[in-house]
Amino acid sequence: MKKLFSLITVLITLSLIGIIAIQYSWLKNVAAIRKDQIAGKVEMVEFEVVEALVEEKMRSAPQLPLDVLPKGAQDQIMQLLGPQTIAERFSVKEVQEKFEKAFEANGLKGAKFEFAVLSNTNDYGPELASPDYERHYELGLKDSANHWIHVWPLVSLTEDETTSLAPEEKLVLIIYDMQDFVLRSVSWMIGVAVLFTLIIIAAFYLTIRTILTQKKLSEMKTDFINNMTHELRTPLATIAIAVDTLKNEKVIGNRDQLLSIGQIIKNENLRMNTQVEQILQAAQLDINQVLKGKVELHVHEVMKKIQDKFALQVGERNAQVTYHLNASDDGVMGHPVHFVNMISNLIDNALKYSKEDIAPVIEVTTENSRRNIVITVKDNGIGMTKDTQSKIFDKFYRAHTGNVHNVKGFGLGLNYTRKMVEAHNGTILVKSQLGEGSTFIVTLPLKGIIG
Ligand code: ADP
Repeated sequence: MKKLFSLITVLITLSLIGIIAIQYSWLKNVAAIRKDQIAGKVEMVEFEVVEALVEEKMRSAPQLPLDVLPKGAQDQIMQLLGPQTIAERFSVKEVQEKFEKAFEANGLKGAKFEFAVLSNTNDYGPELASPDYERHYELGLKDSANHWIHVWPLVSLTEDETTSLAPEEKLVLIIYDMQDFVLRSVSWMIGVAVLFTLIIIAAFYLTIRTILTQKKLSEMKTDFINNMTHELRTPLATIAIAVDTLKNEKVIGNRDQLLSIGQIIKNENLRMNTQVEQILQAAQLDINQVLKGKVELHVHEVMKKIQDKFALQVGERNAQVTYHLNASDDGVMGHPVHFVNMISNLIDNALKYSKEDIAPVIEVTTENSRRNIVITVKDNGIGMTKDTQSKIFDKFYRAHTGNVHNVKGFGLGLNYTRKMVEAHNGTILVKSQLGEGSTFIVTLPLKGIIG
């Protein structure tokens, strides 16, 4: 079972890694295809704009064999004919708008670009340029992946350009932040892929966690059943032997022995009774019944009862239990039986989980804090690790460390206590360090608070 579980975990993990790797490579491919598509569209945009610009330029270009005339005459005719260059015909804004429209028409709305028109009349320096052209041109020379620089000659693609004497011009278009643009255009795909991958990982994690918790719980239940069987069998076996002994002729005649065997039977019976009680307490715990059965209680009176209840056990263990009943107001609303049990469990544990070589020293304190009474049970016992502390209130949990396992119990006591404290609108917390003892702090509202 354990092997199968590990195998399944490994297989699912591998599949997950595989799926993520494949998705990554697919997305990379999609981005590359998208980039090519965008590049194609950009070319279309450029083609359209260049066509439009050239058309305009050619319309008014002199279709005369001007080159046969002397130079001075050429210039005069050109001047008479009016603007001949793109830079003269169009403003930056107009070219910009042409590009914007073309980008939009080709589905590339929002593409970032700069442009310039260069002319041979000023040694191919920009005659007309968008505001940030120079800066992006410089950047483009360094980072060609993110800046596409395209140069187009502004000549008619259909007509015979030699007929024109207008200056030679070139259009430079820089499209930048391309990586971002491509990413943005596939972002929804990345988003959906990431989302579904996260869902799969989360579901996988939850499944593993649930299986582990169930496994742990089933182990704890098995432990509990073994423990309970053992705990109930021991007194039964002792009683059976004692009863057999009673049949012995020698014993029948001996009054002292009879009494002592009777005492043994009674003790074992009591022990069994307590254990059955404990199990029933946990199994039949009806919080509603507890809530209905609340009466006014005085914590200090309850403490007295508990002191008497534990007198024998304290004596047997050579323990020293001190009660510091400092609270000036000790009136609470509580269930007469469950309230005693819930505090008793803490003292019982303080005695049970003591160190073998040191006599238990336990301090029970009450004090008021705001409108609460705080009951503290502090011991000098074996203490607990942080991990144990986080689990002790779970049903069936028992710390399996060192000699702790020798201490009898069902792992139900603290779970019951916590449920009870909550039924009394209180809180319980533990502070402990392994080998240094533990402190349990129960805070309960005073009677005035909950009526
Ligand atoms: P049980 O005592 O029957 O095992 P509990 O619910 O009362 O069950 O306690 C759960 C576990 O918490 C115990 O098995 C023990 O490991 C730990 N524990 C409880 N109280 C103390 C304490 N005072 N000192 C050290 N460990 C404790």
